[in-house]
Amino acid sequence: MSTINKILVIGAGIAGPAVCYWLRRFGFSPVLIEKFANIRKEGQALDFRGVAIDIVKGMNIYEKMCNMHKQLEVGRYVDTEGNTLHEERGERFCFRQGEDVEIARGDFAEILTGAIEGIPCHFNQVIDSIKQSDDDVKVQFNDGRVEHYDLVIGADGIYSTTRGMVFDKDEYKLVNLGVCFGVFSILNYLNLSHTEVQCEANQKLISIWSHKNPKMAEVAFVFRTQNVLNNIRNKNEQQQLLRDAFQDFGWEASKILELMTGSDDFYFDSATQVKMKSWTKGRVALLGDAGYSASPLSGQGNYLALVGAYIFAGELKKADGNYTRAFSRYNELLHPLVEACHKLGVLVSESFLVPDEVSKEVAEERSNKILQEVKIVSNMISLPEYE
Ligand SMILES: Cc1cc2nc3c(=O)[nH]c(=O)nc-3n(C[C@H](O)[C@H](O)[C@H](O)COP(=O)(O)OP(=O)(O)OC[C@H]3O[C@@H](n4cnc5c(N)ncnc54)[C@H](O)[C@@H]3O)c2cc1C
Repeated sequence: MSTINKILVIGAGIAGPAVCYWLRRFGFSPVLIEKFANIRKEGQALDFRGVAIDIVKGMNIYEKMCNMHKQLEVGRYVDTEGNTLHEERGERFCFRQGEDVEIARGDFAEILTGAIEGIPCHFNQVIDSIKQSDDDVKVQFNDGRVEHYDLVIGADGIYSTTRGMVFDKDEYKLVNLGVCFGVFSILNYLNLSHTEVQCEANQKLISIWSHKNPKMAEVAFVFRTQNVLNNIRNKNEQQQLLRDAFQDFGWEASKILELMTGSDDFYFDSATQVKMKSWTKGRVALLGDAGYSASPLSGQGNYLALVGAYIFAGELKKADGNYTRAFSRYNELLHPLVEACHKLGVLVSESFLVPDEVSKEVAEERSNKILQEVKIVSNMISLPEYE
């Protein structure tokens, strides 16, 4: 019998619940904690392609995801006066084909929560310290409790405190791609129906679409900036940054920014990649954005989180709980995929947010190039069989 059983997973985003699912399925006993009071529903749609589809099918959640799928019929590019430049079929506009699905991050988080029913999940909890010994990991919670675990997994996102507690500063690097984004919902005042409209000019981009609830529209503002803005965590300051950046943009910017104030799901961040040689140290491992964020621009954050979670739990099972062997395989198997996703993030950041309005030819050439890279990345890893 494996000597590894009790595992603490920090962060109930995407990677945390996913690893809990596979750990339980492979015979371990995970416990999940989350800093916030609830599962966080903010965020734009997430894409699932290639190997990620195999994983969600394996988790028996693919059908549920298809029911909540973002159904887009048309993608329309407009200039800053609102004139249509050209249109694309929805599937192509979203770089989707075949069995690929795109669903809102909040919907996916909810589906994952259903899939881990019965696993202890404690909200409003953070840890103050982690101390490792040869035998276990001693964790002190912010309410003063002390618990001992066999392993700890930091799945606490790009600004992971687990990473800061366990790894030395020279063991990780955060690389800012010079792009910031804000996403939120507003009233569907443009009466869009299964349509996404995108306006890109002067190194800025606004995208707005409505597909599920006809009364509401989702919006994304993306802009290039040389300032490092990821230390601005206050919502009012973040919204002011968007107002400043887009005040002279034209098209619908002013109206959308006006409506932004009333949105209840505003999310803002900079596009940042996390680079590390190893995602494990002693009995602690990092998973998802905490260890290898490729930035939202890559569109691969949830893919990496799902593949990482499956391989992490599977290797632990295969090594019969010999965590040193399992950790080394986790690092080895995942590194080539993470590097490819990081390159894709850089390619997208260089291809979008151009100084001029985007012609049909430029948009088509760009779509073809990105679609080709996305296809390669989504299928480049063969998932080992663990059952
Ligand atoms: C609110 C939100 C909105 C997002 N929106 C988008 C988007 O629009 N587009 C996109 O591409 N990506 C978005 N992301 C990132 C995307 O979810 C990830 O890239 C990807 O799915 C990998 O997920 P993850 O679980 O590693 O990280 P995350 O999804 O970031 O989840 C990390 C979780 O850990 C929790 N946490 C953080 N610190 C602690 C702590 N100290 N203790 C306990 N829990 C902690 C967080 O609250 C969060 O629930 C968003 C993330 C969040 C949290």
